Amino acid sequence: MTEAYKITDHKYDALVIGAGGAGLRATLGMTSSGLKTACITKVFPTRSHTVAAQGGIGAALGNMAEDDWRWHMYDTVKGSDWLGDQDAIEYMCRNAIPAVQELEHFGVPFSRNAEGRIYQRPFGGHMRNFGEAPVQRACAAADRTGHAILHTLYQQCLKRDAEFFVEYVAIDLIMDDEGACQGVLAWNLDDGSLHRFQAHTTVLATGGYGRAWFSCTSAHTCTGDGNGMVARAGLPLQDLEFVQFHPTGVYGAGVLITEGARGEGGYLTNSEGERFMERYAPTAKDLASRDVVSRAMTVEIREGRGVGQHNDHIFLHLEHLGGDLLHERLPGITESAQIFAGVDATRDPIPVLPTVHYNMGGIPTNIHGEVLRPTADDPDAICPGLMAIGECASVSVHGANRLGTNSLLDIVVFGRAAGLRAAEIVKPGSSLPPLAKGDTEKALDRLDRLRNASGVMRTADIRLEMQKTMQNNAAVFRDHDVLEEGRRKIDSVVEALGEINVSDRSMVWNSDLVEALELENLLACAQITMHSALAREESRGAHAREDFAERDDEKWMKHTLGWLGENNTVRLDYRPVHTWTLTDEVEYIVPKTRVY
Ligand SMILES: Cc1cc2nc3c(=O)[nH]c(=O)nc-3n(C[C@H](O)[C@H](O)[C@H](O)COP(=O)(O)OP(=O)(O)OC[C@H]3O[C@@H](n4cnc5c(N)ncnc54)[C@H](O)[C@@H]3O)c2cc1C
Repeated sequence: MTEAYKITDHKYDALVIGAGGAGLRATLGMTSSGLKTACITKVFPTRSHTVAAQGGIGAALGNMAEDDWRWHMYDTVKGSDWLGDQDAIEYMCRNAIPAVQELEHFGVPFSRNAEGRIYQRPFGGHMRNFGEAPVQRACAAADRTGHAILHTLYQQCLKRDAEFFVEYVAIDLIMDDEGACQGVLAWNLDDGSLHRFQAHTTVLATGGYGRAWFSCTSAHTCTGDGNGMVARAGLPLQDLEFVQFHPTGVYGAGVLITEGARGEGGYLTNSEGERFMERYAPTAKDLASRDVVSRAMTVEIREGRGVGQHNDHIFLHLEHLGGDLLHERLPGITESAQIFAGVDATRDPIPVLPTVHYNMGGIPTNIHGEVLRPTADDPDAICPGLMAIGECASVSVHGANRLGTNSLLDIVVFGRAAGLRAAEIVKPGSSLPPLAKGDTEKALDRLDRLRNASGVMRTADIRLEMQKTMQNNAAVFRDHDVLEEGRRKIDSVVEALGEINVSDRSMVWNSDLVEALELENLLACAQITMHSALAREESRGAHAREDFAERDDEKWMKHTLGWLGENNTVRLDYRPVHTWTLTDEVEYIVPKTRVY
């Protein structure tokens, strides 16, 4: 280390890293149960990516038509292509109903139906009576549902005097010699100071890593920081090969047009004006699950039926819905279509293309949010002192493919669960064990190494190389050759990180250094994603291998675990999928062929 850094110490009962929907719901629960809780966030809480969620949050309220949480569970298991853990899916779908009612009581301004109940719209893969026909299950606040939820949760946190550390970047976890988590080292961008937070439990709620791809719907801040911290702490990441492409990103811009647009009656056409989804998914049509629709669009384009000058995209039609409906239920995306595609959606179709949207994989946890440290004897063993929730986690409720509306649900249900668990295992105000000095040094070394990096490559150039590789080689369709090339390329981008140059050496608002730290996190995710995808020789959910076109339950119904090893290597192993339910109110849903 080249410089002695001054560190300010903080002690808390609980620590939450991230103030998106997941982090805020956990902070709220922990603060309410009397735990002294700190929430650290690199952006102002209401700027977290959750604010951009549009279409809705799934719960079988049955406000518009008959519904049942067991149907929701069935759809989620089927959507996951049987890679989801059924105990976790049962927990989420059953708790969806009280979770949404709780949000309503917190003050979320949901849209209303004629009876004054929460308005619900159809969404991809959500069906009535075990796959019979689409059902209205997405509870929506127009097309700004995430905005409504995030602002409400933040206000609830303020009401309970939760403590926020805003524009603090968490650098790395502080782990003790036994591998338990003791807290985190963070950097205050505003004044350049460093802070060590120690707590009985540390909760990662840092969101996804969509920014590893060139074209994605996620915010620039979605850089997989929590995943990177976990990988550097010697813990595995689970199922990273499963990456969701949303069918309707605005062509050229990547900005999202919610699936709620198809829920309200929108549909896709090819260059022949054909509603082609009828051929691919006769029952659900345009409301089939996202992996199915994204593949169908890609096939149409490949076979020469794309629209536009280069036949390289697809049309989404909303014009038949009429200006009044668009204005009332889809105002945000009508505006996005105008700004990003120059299209008046009340008159013309919107040009769209599948775009990276969500990471199904992440930090493996149990249903209480506790992070797993699997051993040969116990695939469900936990890492003491560490939790993960939200998009950075893999519980796993989404398995190989997430259904729309199930992420907003995931973040509130498991954010709440983490709060309940913390209240069970932590006694407010109880004393913390002494911190070993060496453990903080590692985190400091990381900051110092990048701050003084004087190689020959700019962060932006390395990042672009990574993004192009992920875009081309970890795409909607994959095969051995493409993935093998991707693996070689991404491994060499990781090597290039050793040549990075950070020109700004200051500590106050050094965005050059922030981006370098973020790039290192993105690359950890990208590398494990590519290695995991190459290894999985089957097609399941969003992982579509042209050389292994079928799902292979006998060999591959298991979760991938990927570790970062010595010298930029990746080690893979596997753990079983949970094939049991939590209660005997539902039975294990046996695998079948997935048709919509
Ligand atoms: C455009 C868009 C629309 C969507 N629409 C829907 C929808 O309609 N329904 C649905 O169910 N899902 C939707 N999703 C998915 C869903 O919104 C996200 O998966 C979910 O909101 C993620 O929440 P989160 O709390 O896990 O993370 P985020 O909301 O991404 O928050 C991450 C937090 O971590 C903090 N953080 C990260 N790294 C650090 C660090 N190093 N130090 C300190 N803090 C850090 C950030 O500051 C931020 O506060 C959508 C996603 C997108 C991109």
